[in-house]
Amino acid sequence: MSNRPLLMIPGPIEVSDGVSDAAAEAPRSHVAPDFVEAMGGSLQAMRHVWRAGEDAQPFILAGSGSLAMDMATWNVIEPGERVVVVNTGFFSDRSVEMLHRRGAHVTQVSAEPGDAPSIDAVARALDERPTAALFATHVDTSTGVRLDAEGLCRIARERNVLTVFDGVCATGGERFEMDTWGADVYLTASQKAIGLPPGLALLVASPRALERRRALSAPPPMSLDWLEWLPVMTAYEARRPSYFATPATTLVWALRTGLDEILSADTDPGTAMDARVSAHATVAGTFRAAWRDMGLDLVPVSEALAANTLSAIRYPDGIGQELVSAIKERGVVVAPGLHPEFKDRYFRVGHMGDIITRPADISRCIDAVRDAVQATRAEL
Ligand SMILES: *Cc1c(COP(=O)(O)O)cnc(C)c1O
Repeated sequence: MSNRPLLMIPGPIEVSDGVSDAAAEAPRSHVAPDFVEAMGGSLQAMRHVWRAGEDAQPFILAGSGSLAMDMATWNVIEPGERVVVVNTGFFSDRSVEMLHRRGAHVTQVSAEPGDAPSIDAVARALDERPTAALFATHVDTSTGVRLDAEGLCRIARERNVLTVFDGVCATGGERFEMDTWGADVYLTASQKAIGLPPGLALLVASPRALERRRALSAPPPMSLDWLEWLPVMTAYEARRPSYFATPATTLVWALRTGLDEILSADTDPGTAMDARVSAHATVAGTFRAAWRDMGLDLVPVSEALAANTLSAIRYPDGIGQELVSAIKERGVVVAPGLHPEFKDRYFRVGHMGDIITRPADISRCIDAVRDAVQATRAEL
């Protein structure tokens, strides 16, 4: 066992040796030929990982997942427009606040924490009044609940409503077929299931989403504006350097490695992504079996709603946050609860990215939790 604790929170996460080595290299110029190749290649690889069409536009930006959320909000929504938000927890609340600051009229469709509203309930909300967009959190990191993104895309497309998915805790670990399902924006950050250090905001926009930006009556703040970034992304993809604001060159260098690792499972990108998602599902099943075995209950109310990328686990009776400290004493870092209504009643374990290829570390995490649960129970 190394002295460094094992990082099992829902982002940042353990990264592969390849990504770690790439991220440790000296910074490159943003116009260096090998950087231009890494940026151009990453943009192309994103279309494969996102399962997006050739006409969709990937963006790679220095920033956080929240920046990607703000960018989507500012480019597709006009003040005064109505937006329906499927609210499953902490990050859906953040999305609502961003939309309010943009001047949108927000209707929320919620469920009890750990549950998700039905597709029918969302459809009814869309039908109440003319709606510009449907926003949803693919996997809510505060509850471990995964939404039926395909079903949401279907009802939105039927009504010509734009869809924006926060995939920050999902992209690269959950099935998402941007092109086939007709999703309009799918966004993430580098430190979650994509498997990199924090620092990159990544999103893909459909042609419809870009049309919305072009039709806005006033441009978004300059650094959030898709139309400022579009020529930069297009240039790099054509293997020409370009500049609007300095890219995070070190992280983009590592991104190229990370995306290649994701896609390396098969020469066909669709098959590679299927393999990647099912590997996450298998590992999630291993973790859930272990929690059950320890007598622990999950926050998601059904197995079907439980994400591949993290577990949200209720504390055993009589035990609270001291369990997180006890697990840390055993060399594994997990996260406390996050949902404002009950954050002191559960904890979270991330299981996404490179960790799914490391059975010894998976066992190390499960053993640490089991041992900590037994020890804290013995003290009751
Ligand atoms: C982590 C996360 C975010 C926020 O990402 P930051 O990089 O911390 O801004 C947003 N949405 C979801 C679903 C997340 O898991």
